[in-house]
Amino acid sequence: MLVANAHSLEQHMTSTSPPHSESPNATSCGGLPPKECSQNTDRTSLIGLDRACFESALVKLGERSYRAKQIWHWLYYQGARTFDEMTTLPKSLRTRLSSSCNIDRPTVNRMQQSEDGALKWLVQFADEREVECVHIPEEDRGALCISSQVGCTLTCRFCHTGTQKLVRNLDAGEIVNQVLIARDTIGEWPSPKDGRMISNIVMMGMGEPLYNFDNVARALRIIMDGEGISLSRRRITLSTAGVVPLIERCGRELGVNLAVSLHAVDDELRNQIVPINKKYPIADLLEACRRYPSGRNSRRITFEYVMLKGVNDSDSDARALVRLLDGVPAKVNLIPFNAWPGAPYQCSSNNRMHSFADIINDGGYSAPIRVPRGRDILAACGQLKSDSEQVKRNHTGLS
Ligand code: SAH
Repeated sequence: MLVANAHSLEQHMTSTSPPHSESPNATSCGGLPPKECSQNTDRTSLIGLDRACFESALVKLGERSYRAKQIWHWLYYQGARTFDEMTTLPKSLRTRLSSSCNIDRPTVNRMQQSEDGALKWLVQFADEREVECVHIPEEDRGALCISSQVGCTLTCRFCHTGTQKLVRNLDAGEIVNQVLIARDTIGEWPSPKDGRMISNIVMMGMGEPLYNFDNVARALRIIMDGEGISLSRRRITLSTAGVVPLIERCGRELGVNLAVSLHAVDDELRNQIVPINKKYPIADLLEACRRYPSGRNSRRITFEYVMLKGVNDSDSDARALVRLLDGVPAKVNLIPFNAWPGAPYQCSSNNRMHSFADIINDGGYSAPIRVPRGRDILAACGQLKSDSEQVKRNHTGLS
């Protein structure tokens, strides 16, 4: 790891990116026909284009299509940050690409390291909006927690991000760039086959990934691509508060692991603490989980359950949880509530959490109590937030 041990590292880097358009999809074009691939700035943004658009963007610039494969490899396997580094390309081509294409990283405005080794980046995009992402190292592996939106619409009562109104969706390039930045810092280029410290990716940062499905899907396909970062779908987990209609699509199109933020066992309480429940109640959510393909492949769905003192942590809640999960290949992650300034809850006591876990274990489900990481730098679950403010309503086109 390049970062030694500072608890709060200020890192200022200049970004030369031209401003993005206001559109959340500015640099991405998904499976659209080549003529519709977006080129909204003077230089075509390459990071975040899916393979088809990536190739057609280069063909449009007059390059031969096999060059796309080479450049893709440089960007996502070797981690090249400039065209100059791409030494298998002729010099004249490198010069041409530098003036016509943009592969700049976003700016890292701040990087902090927790006493427990967790690392948090505050990433700023070309329009000055910011998100946070976090690396949680274990002895021989680590998870990178990335964001899908600036702010969030969900307003879950216990979540710090929920106090920040949604500013906008991230585009696919902005999601992928969080991974590239983390790998730059941790020194994980070229893509190692084994022994990666970024061995897993969790879409558990700021935002609701299923409310930004197209960009998240495009980004995850890039991250999974075997000729680049090449992270298997089994090592990627998408966490949702329960956007029921998109759970099926997530399973069918991406097949990544699913985590569901349940947090309550009856609709009355869940309506209060996870308000999306009013739209998609618990029974519908669990029905979608029963149909999720990972179940058939013996991969279990993770149910996240934040332990809130005197709110959702009684023995009868635990027994109700076991009944609810009947028929779902599930494991339960008990998350000690992470406090943040002004939070209206407290974390359950250790004894309470253990009694709760015992009941779930006895019911046949594993229920580890997650060890909080990065609390000292507000990097733990639900503590992420940036200062980006919403400028005007409906900025993203979302309602
Ligand atoms: N919107 C997605 C992903 C982001 S939240 C979702 O809801 O799943 C990632 C996880 O952290 C969720 O399970 C969320 O409920 C949990 N979380 C939020 N605030 C928390 C807090 N203060 N303490 C512990 N976990 C929290």
